Amino acid sequence: MVLYMTDIVIIGGGPAGISAALTAAQRGKTSVIITSAPEDSLLWKAEKIDNYPGLPGITGKDLIAALTKHAEGVGVKFVRGKALSIIPMGNRFGVSVGMDFVDCGAVILATGVARGKAFPGEKEFLGAGVSYCATCDGMLYREKNIAVIGLSAEAPEEAEFLRSIGCNVEYFDGKRAKKYEIKGAERVESLTADGESYPVEGVFILRAGVAPDTLLPGLETDKGHIRADAEMATNIPGVFAAG
Ligand SMILES: Cc1cc2nc3c(=O)[nH]c(=O)nc-3n(C[C@H](O)[C@H](O)[C@H](O)COP(=O)(O)OP(=O)(O)OC[C@H]3O[C@@H](n4cnc5c(N)ncnc54)[C@H](O)[C@@H]3O)c2cc1C
Repeated sequence: MVLYMTDIVIIGGGPAGISAALTAAQRGKTSVIITSAPEDSLLWKAEKIDNYPGLPGITGKDLIAALTKHAEGVGVKFVRGKALSIIPMGNRFGVSVGMDFVDCGAVILATGVARGKAFPGEKEFLGAGVSYCATCDGMLYREKNIAVIGLSAEAPEEAEFLRSIGCNVEYFDGKRAKKYEIKGAERVESLTADGESYPVEGVFILRAGVAPDTLLPGLETDKGHIRADAEMATNIPGVFAAG
């Protein structure tokens, strides 16, 4: 486990998160950007961007690379992985990313558009068989049957990790099934995928992000969007939104 301390944690390394980090650096603040793989940013898929001043015709990939290099050049630290939870701790926050933890004075949520709704059973069994983090919870499922629903660029690698520690993995990439339902009593007992039932004790749902109000319970949202005022402040003091 690694512990970092910084003034500001920015969740999301797309254009909004990187702009926030550059502005923070200009104002003498340190920041850590926690972000999933660059392929998970919407921008990665843009073939040609003609409305970014000074860089006509650049591809999304090249723009992300240029933005990342700029931020690293002014001392912004990148932590690759998925932010799983934000824990208020008096006048500071703790942000967990895999097994690591970042302590900070303020948080900027620059997580982009959250795609996809929670699957039936996902919220009910979170912590009772449903997990978002292979490295955090994998050891609990050694020699057990689990399902992995892989919806991010790094999901196949995380599924391999689970196999390597002895989990019996049934892997579902984004295309293998259209409908999922997680069923059980006190804990997960099965996953139904397009009507077919798989007896499993755990279901790892590996998306690039986490819904904002799951990341930080109590955060006000409106139809999945974070509510912010004209200063980009959310209803939780010290937590801001961008993008
Ligand atoms: C095909 C396509 C073409 C486009 N072309 C253009 C164009 O020409 N011009 C234009 O202006 N716009 C274009 N866009 C839109 C543009 O890509 C988005 O507006 C922009 O990327 C939004 O920036 P953002 O920083 O808010 O979010 P994003 O770029 O989506 O970045 C958010 C990042 O945060 C990560 N993240 C989310 N949650 C977590 C978490 N819990 N932990 C860690 N990381 C997390 C995401 O995986 C993602 O990498 C295009 C989009 C697409 C899909």
